[in-house]
Amino acid sequence: MVQRKYLFPGVIELNLQAAQSFGVNLYLIDGGTEWALIDVGQNETLDDVIDLIRKLDFPLSKCKMLIATHADADHVQALASARLRLKAKTGAHPAAAQALEAGDPVQTYASIPAQGFEIDGGMPACKIDVKLEEGDEIKVGKLTLKVWSTPGHTPGQLSFQMGNLLFSGDNIYKDGCVGAIDAHHGSHLPSFITSLTRLRDADAEFLLPSHGPMFRKDPAILQGAIDRLTKYQHMADFGTCTVSWPLEDEWKRDILTGKMPAL
Ligand SMILES: [Zn+2]
Repeated sequence: MVQRKYLFPGVIELNLQAAQSFGVNLYLIDGGTEWALIDVGQNETLDDVIDLIRKLDFPLSKCKMLIATHADADHVQALASARLRLKAKTGAHPAAAQALEAGDPVQTYASIPAQGFEIDGGMPACKIDVKLEEGDEIKVGKLTLKVWSTPGHTPGQLSFQMGNLLFSGDNIYKDGCVGAIDAHHGSHLPSFITSLTRLRDADAEFLLPSHGPMFRKDPAILQGAIDRLTKYQHMADFGTCTVSWPLEDEWKRDILTGKMPAL
């Protein structure tokens, strides 16, 4: 038996608990009579994760749900295996469920062929038992997680509010960076800005992201990201994620009117 190290009442973050890096943050929600896990991580760390949960004296049969913040392999490659081993239900947004049930390696970032990147073990397809939508509530014993749909990084990105805590997924990190913006991933800048605005205005005191340290919610950090992404919408740097590119529009007008470049 290992002494439980609570980050907040009812919340154990397994990297901090184990003093071991599991690659992404894994939040165990302790509702007393049952528990849930927000993200399970990758196959190579699943044995250690399950072992740790057992040593913390959480009965494996009392797992209410294995929750996917979104369908990226670093967060949920082990979901299929964990579902079988714990005999627990999985929960994800319908858009994430699509990628997870198909085991889509490109959309889940398990494979980036153009960079020769392949995650060991690929992306095992996983049945999603519960489709989590905006406004749903997940009861975990005496605790309740309110489901927020916060698309942008990916279409199926979820956040979860529990009292003054907001499990904020890959929306924003302590340094103001955001989850990767990538066309193959279904990133969508206008939705991302809406989600970040919602987080900025949220009635929550602490953000618990899926990467990096937890931090006190600071509207200035969120505003910085909102301002940056607002600019990205009109910059060619972001390819098909761009909403418009003023230079291209101007150039087309010049071509059509026979205007020569001002050199
Ligand atoms: Zn991530």
